[in-house]
Amino acid sequence: MAPQAATRPLPEPMDRYVVIGNPVAHSRSPEIHALFARETGEPVQYERLRVAPGDFARAARVFFAGGGRGANVTLPFKVDAFAFSDARTARAEAAAAVNTLSARDDGILGDNTDGAGLVRDLTANLGLALGGARILLLGAGGAARGVVGPLLAQGPARLVIANRTPDRARALAERFGGLGPVTGMALDAVAGEFDLVVNATASSTRGEALSLDDRALRGCAFAYDMAYGPSAAPFLARARAGGARVSDGLGMLVEQAAESFLVWRGRRPATAPVIAALRAA
Ligand code: NDP
Repeated sequence: MAPQAATRPLPEPMDRYVVIGNPVAHSRSPEIHALFARETGEPVQYERLRVAPGDFARAARVFFAGGGRGANVTLPFKVDAFAFSDARTARAEAAAAVNTLSARDDGILGDNTDGAGLVRDLTANLGLALGGARILLLGAGGAARGVVGPLLAQGPARLVIANRTPDRARALAERFGGLGPVTGMALDAVAGEFDLVVNATASSTRGEALSLDDRALRGCAFAYDMAYGPSAAPFLARARAGGARVSDGLGMLVEQAAESFLVWRGRRPATAPVIAALRAA
């Protein structure tokens, strides 16, 4: 009898995803999505794609034409991704920025999962109740713009947006004024009491000082920095000195990724083990 050829199961074809940015080497998204894929058994392959400034649309077109299923988009391309999308979700329209692109039969859908990620980290992971809270949001850049709508949807007593360039904060408050009690002002003019302070400026990531009066942090119950790891430490130390509980933005990073995974694969991965694994790494 002829020996039987060993049968090996054929490898399942993988669906391709990327994170597009510049720089992008530091991104932890491939690590996060690899953990989600392992946990859910979804055939997801996720890589980094560094794109030169001005080259976003061409690079994204090539990726999707080659069969790519979806992309996360990070600095400095979230506005380019908004323009690149054939259609957009309501939350991407509100944020005027896109961090999640999906290939659909009728074109590329742009979404924004940053706000959902922040709110989920604050409420589900950190146990904060945002209804009736007095919230101070520092910064008026892309990240801030993505979270104003979802924060207002939680029904805070008030949301104050404070920015180094005050006109940007005022413009943002005006844009979202129909959704709840939101005002904009200069960063160095903030006083008053807040239950929650969210640092959405790039000061931590850049290692720069934040011209915020300590009075703004006094009496604050919780302070959150969207930056994560050692770069968030100086801001969080200031807040802790004022008596606040604190968190960096690692949970937001994982939660916005889980929301993207849900958009792409139709299922939400568990995030707690991934946050724990990243903290331990
Ligand atoms: P942008 O470049 O769009 O905006 C930067 C903002 O920071 C502006 O409001 C700017 O003020 C302000 N800023 C910069 N430097 C200083 C400083 N030294 N003092 C005071 N304000 C300053 O960046 P993004 O909004 O996209 O990102 C902001 C931060 O959020 C980054 O650290 C980013 O890594 C983090 N992030 C984290 C996410 C997560 O999942 N954890 C997701 C998205 C972002 P001005 O208008 O005056 O220039």
